[in-house]
Amino acid sequence: MARSAQTLPIFSGAPVDTRRRPLRDVRLSVTDRCNFRCGYCMPAEVFGPDFAFLPRAELLTFEELALVAGELVALGARTLRITGGEPLVRRDLERLVVLLRELDANEALGGEPLDIALTTNGSLLAGLAAPLRAAGLNRITVSLDALDPATFARMSGSALPLQRVLEGIGAAVEAGFRGIKLNAVIRRGVNDGEIPSLVAYARAEGHTLRLIEYMDVGTTNGWRLDEVLPANEILARIHALHPVEPIAPSRPGEVANRYRYVDGRGEIGLIASVSAPFCGDCTRARVSADGRLYTCLFAAEGIDVKRHLRPVADPRALRDALRDRWTSRDDRYSELRDAATANRLPKVEMFRVGG
Ligand code: SAM
Ligand code: SF4
Ligand code: SF4
Repeated sequence: MARSAQTLPIFSGAPVDTRRRPLRDVRLSVTDRCNFRCGYCMPAEVFGPDFAFLPRAELLTFEELALVAGELVALGARTLRITGGEPLVRRDLERLVVLLRELDANEALGGEPLDIALTTNGSLLAGLAAPLRAAGLNRITVSLDALDPATFARMSGSALPLQRVLEGIGAAVEAGFRGIKLNAVIRRGVNDGEIPSLVAYARAEGHTLRLIEYMDVGTTNGWRLDEVLPANEILARIHALHPVEPIAPSRPGEVANRYRYVDGRGEIGLIASVSAPFCGDCTRARVSADGRLYTCLFAAEGIDVKRHLRPVADPRALRDALRDRWTSRDDRYSELRDAATANRLPKVEMFRVGG
């Protein structure tokens, strides 16, 4: 069932889109490059050694990203999530965290600090968790689709060992991160057999596992509806192992439906973007690494914000452009999705705009 914007709090003065949805969450993509080739995102057959990723000069600098983020905070954003591509392949990422943390002084926040989060494949996290924490990062989500090394390799399309990701998660705990989330995209017939071991690992380590329906993002993953394991089936499988009961969302606009284990040993989230779309509550905007603002994960086009940054930044024009785009937003792709057309529409690739 589709959710509605009725549940969303609207802050005075904050703009809303044409469906009365405020802007709350921003994903900042810092690179389109990645050291994995997950078949559901960047299949190796398409993104081979000769693939032309963005030239460095096209990427927004950290200062430019922070400027855009600051204007989005003024329009209502309260969570900034750093993503990619693989965000940790961009050098000195902790410097961006420091610049984003400085936005806490933005008067729109009224003294309430921003929630700054990171989504990563975890493979480079071991050496970076401590500096990121010191820079002011609040939360980490690590994508982890399998614990069986062969299935992990098949899902990640990479020779990088699973052990590196597990060490990265361990380093995040060591650095003081709490409430770590583990994201697993489930593909029927590929890694659905991993659900029990992912559940056991997350419960044992005290992390929140979030199971994500395989989505028809981008145009290259050859998505098929029969590879989607619907969230209610995932839930039934988990419930049979460890009974769960639903709990309330931790905040409005949360994408995951939350459940807690009846035995008190933690919680899980299910992200049912295909079987139970949540466009009615969607408060997210995405900034691509080359400076385009997308108001839907499935949008074909984003507006060019870099033109308001170069050669000289014009914050006023930038804010007007961002506000105009948000107030004219009408996106609700997942509610309108049609399995027959899903692979034919033009759409931005997920590695360009993050999850
Ligand atoms: N590289 C980082 C990572 O994998 O965590 C950040 C970027 S990645 C695009 C962000 C999230 O999108 C990951 O959790 C990934 O599993 C998810 N994702 C990518 N393609 C997807 C798809 N087709 N369906 C569902 N989730 C997908
Ligand atoms: Fe890379 Fe993340 Fe996409 Fe996998 S999901 S290919 S790790 S960007
Ligand atoms: Fe938001 Fe677009 Fe996803 Fe709907 S399809 S929840 S509007 S990103």
